[in-house]
Amino acid sequence: MAVLEILKYPDERLKQESVPVEVFDDELRTFISDLEETMRAGPGGVGIAAPQVNRFQRIVIVDISSMKKSGMKKPPANSSQHGRMVLINPEITEWEGMAMGREGCMSVPDYTGNVIRAERITFSAYDEHGERHEYQCEGFEARAVQHECDHLDGMLFLDRLVSRRTDLFQRKVYQTKDKS
Ligand SMILES: [Zn+2]
Repeated sequence: MAVLEILKYPDERLKQESVPVEVFDDELRTFISDLEETMRAGPGGVGIAAPQVNRFQRIVIVDISSMKKSGMKKPPANSSQHGRMVLINPEITEWEGMAMGREGCMSVPDYTGNVIRAERITFSAYDEHGERHEYQCEGFEARAVQHECDHLDGMLFLDRLVSRRTDLFQRKVYQTKDKS
C-alpha cells in the first residue's frame, strides 16, 4: 500500500474528464487500496476520487464513518449510512431535495465552501470485483458521493459556489484586529 500524491487546485489536470473502468483485475484492486490509504491519510478523509491522484478513471471511495476532526462538524450517526463504499463507474439516477452544506476537498486544502446539493440520491456503481450495486444515500453521505462524482467530470466544489465572496472560507482563521 502507498499514499499517493494529491493533485492540488489550480492544477489543470483536475478539470480532465475520467473514463469508465473496463477491467476489474488485481492491478485495479491494488490501486484502490492505495487510493483508500491516501484518503485515510488526509485531513477530513471522507472521500477521494481517482483523478485526484492523477488516474483518470471513474473510481471513487466514500466513507463518512471515518470522518476526522477537520474543523467540520461530524454529522450525527445515521443507521442508513453505508460505511466504506468503493464506487466504480457510478451513475446517479435520482436526485431529491436541496440543501446547502459545507464541503472541503483534499485538492483544495486551504478552503471550505458552501455548496447546494441534493439531499437524497439514488445511484448504481460497480465494486472492485465488478459487481453492480444500487444505493440510496441521504444527508452528508449523499453530499460526499455527489462531491466525489463531480471530480470524475472534472468539477471541483469551487465550480458550484453561488458566490466566492460569501460562500468560500479559509480553513485557518487568523485573529486580526481589523474586523471591518
Ligand atoms: Zn474533492
